[in-house]
Amino acid sequence: MTTATTATNADLFARAQAAIPGGVNSPVRAFRSVGGTPRFLVSARGPYVTDAEGREYVDLVAGWGPAILGHAHPGVIAAVQDAAARGLSFGASTPVETELAELIEQRVAPVEKLRLVSTGTEATMSAIRLARGFTGRDLLVKFAGHYHGHSDGLLAEAGSGLATFALPGSAGVPADVAALTLVVPYNDLDALRAVFAEHGDRIAAVITEAAAANMGVVPPLPGFNRAIVELAHAHGALVISDEVLTGFRVSKAGWWGVEADTDAAYTPDLVTFGKVVGGGMPVAALGGRADVMERLAPLGPVYQAGTLSGNPVAVTAGVTTLRLADDAVYATLDEVSALLQREVSAALSAEGVAHGVQVAGNLFSFLFGESVAGGAHDYAGVLAQESWRYAPFFHAMLDAGVSLPPSVFEAWFVTAAHDESAITRILDALPAAARAAAS
Ligand code: PLP
Repeated sequence: MTTATTATNADLFARAQAAIPGGVNSPVRAFRSVGGTPRFLVSARGPYVTDAEGREYVDLVAGWGPAILGHAHPGVIAAVQDAAARGLSFGASTPVETELAELIEQRVAPVEKLRLVSTGTEATMSAIRLARGFTGRDLLVKFAGHYHGHSDGLLAEAGSGLATFALPGSAGVPADVAALTLVVPYNDLDALRAVFAEHGDRIAAVITEAAAANMGVVPPLPGFNRAIVELAHAHGALVISDEVLTGFRVSKAGWWGVEADTDAAYTPDLVTFGKVVGGGMPVAALGGRADVMERLAPLGPVYQAGTLSGNPVAVTAGVTTLRLADDAVYATLDEVSALLQREVSAALSAEGVAHGVQVAGNLFSFLFGESVAGGAHDYAGVLAQESWRYAPFFHAMLDAGVSLPPSVFEAWFVTAAHDESAITRILDALPAAARAAAS
């Protein structure tokens, strides 16, 4: 298969900018926070992606999370090809949807019933409507720096692309809608208590990333998820644990699974999934308590639907990915992650670049600067870093054939396909990148 084209990345970006706003279909892809020309990718295999100029990069973006097995895993591709040959979309029930729901319910105990959708944004949006419909209340609490997709009401002080652009929210969101969202500093139980003390009987739900990873990685302090649940339940509110990013990436049972056997164990009412659950295709889900989930149409009064929901080709990619991700896969993800945390940190230290390493399971990111070397627990802490050091670091890595997330406010994603030669390429690139970050 030929992957190179005659057009350069710059040609393709110019052409894309004429046809597509900003030349991209999701803002962070435009490289605004690191500068330069985005790479137009034409293929991916294992730990590598290849751009239109035929250049191969070790990939530490992994499709923003889904590719835990590595790109184009032969088992997933074969299953998808087989499903595609039997029809792309039926808009009717299929056996494989139930298979995926059962698989998730077996792994994540708080999920008693599950509904499939196509994107993480849809999953959180539907979960919030469901929580409002169930409680009969309107207010929603979210944490500063958490990202839950781009629906109205969830963009106030959100992380991810918005943190990158340092925007307070988004134009086009009615003030009356935004006013239904209360934003609280992350990991700050006193602030959460204060919000509940003032508005407790009007709060439908607290939505929280199970472990925050859209402002860089910021894990919950021990017991914080549990405390959210206790406080919310004391006030008759629900908790939506957003595992779109962490679900089936940080463990077979997501972040819930990481904390399940500890003193910090918690039981959210609703859980949202995306990314890994579709194995690189558009599948996401919301699940949770049966009595809450059964308020969804057609059983209950909360409307939710989708032409492509449970699409057979996409769901096949998800089921196959989850089945192939055995204990050895998660052990490899953890090992590669730990090795990279250590080596990047050592390279930065060798060049005198003060930094912090932020870790949640196998997700990690780096904070640049002396003031954040001890780590950050919330969005204000993350924003206090010398973020300008990341662009030269990023470009030095890219020049050496390593593709990192194009923003310091994103997690790094490893795959189980990151073998010795891919890792060697990363390690070889680090000294020059660390020097670039130092200057
Ligand atoms: N929730 C979290 C925690 C996410 O990380 C994301 C996307 O990055 C979303 C929701 C939105 O998912 P999607 O981009 O599929 O709409």
